[in-house]
Amino acid sequence: MPSPPLPTAASTSPFEPSALLAAIVESSEDAIIGKNLSGMVMSWNTGAERMFGYMAAEMIAQPITRLFPPGTEDTESAILAQLQRGERVQHYEAERRRKDGTTIIVSLTISPIRDAQGRIVGASKIARDITSQKQAQLALETARRELATHAKVLEEKVRERTAQLEEMVAQLNAFSYSLSHDMRAPLRSIKGFAEIVATDFGEKLGPQGMGHVRRIINAAARLDQLIRDVLSFSRVSRQDVTLVPVALDQLVRDVISERADLQPPKAVVTIADPLLPIQGQGAFVTQCVTNLLDNAVKFVSPGVQPRVVIHTEHRDHVVRLWVEDNGIGIEPAAQKTLFRLFYRGHTDATYPGTGVGLAIVRKAVERMHGRCGVQSMVGQGSQFWIEFPAAS
Ligand code: ADP
Repeated sequence: MPSPPLPTAASTSPFEPSALLAAIVESSEDAIIGKNLSGMVMSWNTGAERMFGYMAAEMIAQPITRLFPPGTEDTESAILAQLQRGERVQHYEAERRRKDGTTIIVSLTISPIRDAQGRIVGASKIARDITSQKQAQLALETARRELATHAKVLEEKVRERTAQLEEMVAQLNAFSYSLSHDMRAPLRSIKGFAEIVATDFGEKLGPQGMGHVRRIINAAARLDQLIRDVLSFSRVSRQDVTLVPVALDQLVRDVISERADLQPPKAVVTIADPLLPIQGQGAFVTQCVTNLLDNAVKFVSPGVQPRVVIHTEHRDHVVRLWVEDNGIGIEPAAQKTLFRLFYRGHTDATYPGTGVGLAIVRKAVERMHGRCGVQSMVGQGSQFWIEFPAAS
């Protein structure tokens, strides 16, 4: 079906076409200017009056270069040459001067005007004031530049502070390491001499004196254990870490076979299925497994034979090692704090310790890009787990 004819300006407007065009030009917000090929203004609409501050009577038959800031007049000849070749000048951004002397930035579109024979006789120029747009753009650019500078300064500051902090932590680590290390020698002599006193002068001391000496020996032993644990923690924090494939199954079997307290009749430690290989640092993994097994056989009710089951499972790209015991279990609130340095949930003499074991586990595991955790119910045993990157 043929479509109905589209209405044209002539058919819908009460105006005669040239009057309509003149009305459109007059009501335009943009400055619409006609000029001849010598650059003289031929027409000047209301938009031009508002934009440049000159009335039409002031500009008609005047050179358009009147609007040009001093020193930029020769750009007009380049524009005219382009027009004479019949080319349009589109979205050309230029500075122009208003009657009051202020400068504005305009976007110009200039097109050649031809007469009935097609000869180029002049040009129509449409100017849009883009000063505020440009100013906003400029402000944005300045703000962006300032932001980038600030970010750079901040980054530099963070880098500096991080370096300072790292140095301080390293110094503190070195300090605590050497302090702990140096404390061991006098402690050894306290313990050694106390033992000599107990052996050689025990009879002279009598039961009360011997009791005191025994206390000195025990306290020295506890302190020595604490220092050794702190040194282990410090070593795990400081040592360089290189991850290599580790045969976890063999490693765990070696740990168990070297320790009488992990074997019957003292305890029953079972490895369920061959353990999966992992990526880790051998010494760190041994330390973690040893500490978890120490706890698993330690935290049982008196008279109960510790029974521990070890197994692994694949989880995405990691291997999770489980150490499950039949021990006393852990309160829900305590489960979150267990891995903190010096945290001890059980301080009575039945469960001696220093509160460093699980902190070492966590530090070592984190340094091997792994994680650790626990699930437990009081009286129902605990299931500790550590995750390592899976061996590829
Ligand atoms: P320590 O064993 O020297 O006290 P750890 O850092 O190894 O220190 O453990 C911190 C605390 O976590 C322990 O004091 C204990 O309360 C709790 N804990 C650790 N392992 C177990 C376990 N297998 N069963 C019950 N409680 C545990």
